[in-house]
Amino acid sequence: MFEWFGKVNFCPHTKVDGFAAHLRAGRLMGSTCTACGHLSFPPRADCPVCRHGEFEFTELSGKGTVMTYTTIAAAPAGFEDEVPFDLGVVDLAETGRLLASFGETIKAAEIAIDMPVQVVPRLCEESAEIKVHYTLEKPGTTWVKNDSE
Ligand SMILES: [Zn+2]
Repeated sequence: MFEWFGKVNFCPHTKVDGFAAHLRAGRLMGSTCTACGHLSFPPRADCPVCRHGEFEFTELSGKGTVMTYTTIAAAPAGFEDEVPFDLGVVDLAETGRLLASFGETIKAAEIAIDMPVQVVPRLCEESAEIKVHYTLEKPGTTWVKNDSE
């Protein structure tokens, strides 16, 4: 299911490939080690604390704060029509960090370090190749299926 993230599929199957299916259903998941209870994001197939190989998916709130951000002016391949756009690194409320672009609810001039944000799953299902990603939105933004992208 990692092919949903894009055309290049470096890892067709892992123990954590359910992450993409959960994201498609609107759930941002971490992994909880069944031996020691350590919560990881992104989900880890093997516990970084005790190295146990079994885990359960745990839904995260998607709430976080902006740790840092930048504006992308030189587009990477496939994003030529998007520049300039803003990317943020977010510390999640429960654990871990993620990188994502800012969505429509946050204007570039509003972006600031330590601002609260909501991570919102997005879908692009216009082709047989289903893509899932997430954007950073104002707190309170609900998880919505977005077919318009
Ligand atoms: Zn563990």
